[in-house]
Amino acid sequence: MTDKERIMRKSFIDDDRLELILQQSAKPDYRQIDEILAKGAEKRGLSIEDVAVLSQIESPEQLTKLYETAHKIKYDIYGNRIVIFAPLYISNECANICDYCGFRADNKELLRRTLDIEELQKETRILEEIGYKRLLLVYGEHPRFDGRWIAETVNAVYRGEQTHKQIRRININTAPLSVEDFRIVKETGIGTYQCFQETYHRETYDRVHLKGKKANYLNRLYVHDDAFAAGIDDVGLGVLFGLYDWKFELLGLLSHAKHLEDTFGVGPHTISFPRIEPALNAPISECPPYQVTDEDLKKIIAIVRIAVPYTGIILTTRETMKLRKELLNLGVSQISAGSRTYPGGYYDEMHNQPSKQQFTIGDTRSLDEVIKDIASQGFIPSFCTSCYRKGRTGHTFMDYAKPGNIHKFCKPNAIITFMEYLSDYASPETREVGMKLIEREFNEIKDPGLQEFVKQQLDLMSQGQRDLML
Ligand code: SAM
Ligand code: SF4
Repeated sequence: MTDKERIMRKSFIDDDRLELILQQSAKPDYRQIDEILAKGAEKRGLSIEDVAVLSQIESPEQLTKLYETAHKIKYDIYGNRIVIFAPLYISNECANICDYCGFRADNKELLRRTLDIEELQKETRILEEIGYKRLLLVYGEHPRFDGRWIAETVNAVYRGEQTHKQIRRININTAPLSVEDFRIVKETGIGTYQCFQETYHRETYDRVHLKGKKANYLNRLYVHDDAFAAGIDDVGLGVLFGLYDWKFELLGLLSHAKHLEDTFGVGPHTISFPRIEPALNAPISECPPYQVTDEDLKKIIAIVRIAVPYTGIILTTRETMKLRKELLNLGVSQISAGSRTYPGGYYDEMHNQPSKQQFTIGDTRSLDEVIKDIASQGFIPSFCTSCYRKGRTGHTFMDYAKPGNIHKFCKPNAIITFMEYLSDYASPETREVGMKLIEREFNEIKDPGLQEFVKQQLDLMSQGQRDLML
């Protein structure tokens, strides 16, 4: 794409149209809601207009129906598996001034830090020893952080000491890069590229991003297109809830997903749902202008589960343990656990250094505690990284997922990777809970060939083999 074509790009978010759709859906009748939920249950997604109607649901009766539909879709597509990851903050240096973020350039009280390769490998080693297999690398936005530098950091994590404990999938969350820089980063073998629009509402966006490159709304809106142009076909979207009306944001998010689907034939791989949390010297974060309550968040997640059934839903440790449990049942398919949200956080924690988080964390439990907890509720924690390593990304992934064939891979891989976690990293209490769950899951596999395959893999593991998958 030429610079001229880039400048000519127009927003595919039409604020007036979205506001109008919301107004027109203001008082839906029960029959209309029932029809949309019945359509959603077919797992072919929903239109923006349908989503606007569902966002108006208030009555307890209709809410129950909404949650039941989301729950059923979640179980049909994802079963009881929950993918586990941890964020690894590489740098909190940033040239932008985002009103809600503690990393903003004008926050003089924040100790700035960018990990060098040695420090990064130390952080990685700590996470590998705890049992993580999937990391999300997080970066501030700074002129120094170009494609080459980001690629170097990804390589440092992937290609440290070669042991069976190695990290197997890295996703990244960075500011927009050029197509050329994306190509360089793609070469390292990243999984998903994530970038959140924060708010789709243009006026709000301009107000909270006054300075720095991030002030350019369109540049950010088209970043996933640029990632696709560089051959990265798993991309992640997100909204920072609290900046503007969540109902509008939901329509913006789904318009974005539709834009990707229409342009590239494949929608977002994941959607994230951060809510603004208190952050150092970020006044707006103390009292967000559009508070999103726990009840709102439950609705948001249920609606997205129905509207884009094949997109992974990510929830982070920003949320409390109690709420995370409820949201797992409504559609969340990936969670972070044991997170530290500043560069060097895992090393500092180990060496009793004081915390300097990006924002306040709601769930402060360790990975082992989270695993024991979710396993005792019947969710199977998955450390699987198979799809992207076997080339099941973008279109190929959707071709497996949409006819329901992804189960064939996910369930065995979840059992196998969970067994690896229990064997090498879990506490005795977690192991006890986990082994019971594995036995139950194994017995539930209906296909005798698949069950035999899993048995063989578990036997190989007991003989010392690792990193097994389908
Ligand atoms: N600098 C990159 C960018 O802005 O895209 C990536 C790193 S930034 C730390 C990652 C995400 O953190 C942002 O996209 C934003 O949604 C989220 N974030 C920033 N401030 C936050 C806060 N106070 N509470 C919760 N999430 C926040
Ligand atoms: Fe920088 Fe990202 Fe924080 Fe904005 S959200 S100040 S770009 S790190």
